[in-house]
Amino acid sequence: MSGQSNGENSRPKKEISYDPSQHLSLDEVKILDEKYVLNTYARMPVAFIYGSGEFLYDTEGKEYIDFLSGIAVTSLGHANADLNEVLQNQSELIWHSSNLFYNPQQALLARALIDITYPGKVFFCNSGTEANEAAIKIMRAWGVQNSSASKKKSIILSLKNSFHGRTFGAMSITGQDKIHNGFGDLMQDIAYIEVNNVKELEKNFNENVCGIILEPVLGEGGVIPLTREFIQKARQLSSEYKAILVMDEIQTGVGRTGSYFAYQNYDLVPDIVTVAKGLAGGFPIGAVIVGQKYCNVLQSGMHGSTFGGNHLATAVGYEVLRTIESSKILANVTEMSNYFFEKLNNLKEAYPDRIEKVQGMGLLIGVVLSNNRPARPLVQKALEKQLIIGRAGENVIRLAPPLIVRKTTIDKAIQKIEEIIQEI
Ligand SMILES: *Cc1c(COP(=O)(O)O)cnc(C)c1O
Repeated sequence: MSGQSNGENSRPKKEISYDPSQHLSLDEVKILDEKYVLNTYARMPVAFIYGSGEFLYDTEGKEYIDFLSGIAVTSLGHANADLNEVLQNQSELIWHSSNLFYNPQQALLARALIDITYPGKVFFCNSGTEANEAAIKIMRAWGVQNSSASKKKSIILSLKNSFHGRTFGAMSITGQDKIHNGFGDLMQDIAYIEVNNVKELEKNFNENVCGIILEPVLGEGGVIPLTREFIQKARQLSSEYKAILVMDEIQTGVGRTGSYFAYQNYDLVPDIVTVAKGLAGGFPIGAVIVGQKYCNVLQSGMHGSTFGGNHLATAVGYEVLRTIESSKILANVTEMSNYFFEKLNNLKEAYPDRIEKVQGMGLLIGVVLSNNRPARPLVQKALEKQLIIGRAGENVIRLAPPLIVRKTTIDKAIQKIEEIIQEI
């Protein structure tokens, strides 16, 4: 990997002089947050002030290893110098003009996304859930356009324990009761299939299915990779029944699994891929990559977004893709993934009563705890030891280090993980 983008060199050019006395203390932030911010999150008791590469620094100046990357978002590390430069330069030219006009940054990012996937076109939005909303509208519009008096092509297939977002449509195609509960009637005509159950997949497919949405690796659902057999069967049945195969790569995309997209590890081409999290390294963006065959399903005026693909977001997104290419990030992901899996599997061998298995793909890794042990206390303990990790489902630890992670940082993290495992 070139020196350009690793942790050391992505430190901000100026030495940051952070003086805690001139800023809000953690307690002051907490008081304001509890009083004025809607209470939809269970927050952990830390506020970060700045970051650098694989590390974050809190209000007390304490350093943390960031192995969650803001939930697989800050993939090129914090305060990446190349991304900062592009963002600063673009910010001095133009932030926003709207989609009433042509936008050079947007057109360039669209071409770059097509270059690394398949022939087609891109729709831009601002988040993962919005990307999936657009995919839902394409699936349903395709269904309407191919329905007849005797056939209503309206069913969307999804997976049990999947996660596709929090807006109404994306929530409806999410296969988890705990996400659905409390909102009354959801979208109709959705069927949820058990993960990797080929028989159930075959049983549910028919002429009335307009599309199927799959996470190649279920993220929130426990970092569970789909099997080759299942995903290829979904491709085959989608083609057979003229349904749209959507890959939700919001978490797995943009290098996270060692390929640009996880579907590329399965030797097939989906019809649509939804992207967000890592695409602009922390700047909000979403994208829907639509294959040639479905590019005209949405006609002019059927969908849109005011902010979608604005100059800042797409300029940074383009630089993320350029950096992944020029700094050989994918090779680093594969090498560090092998190293991390090996170290974690050693821990599993040493503590079989604590760790049941290690699963995932690339640098999206789940550590499944034995005996359904809850992961939340371990995540809290890790934070106390200045290691940021996450949770997927109730008893899986989720690790999503930045794609620029180094062996030395993995070694430090492994040491902390071992301490935590010993203490439970
Ligand atoms: C995070 C995520 C979403 C939702 O993205 P938001 O940006 O939070 O709306 C959808 N699908 C998957 C697989 C995700 O991981």
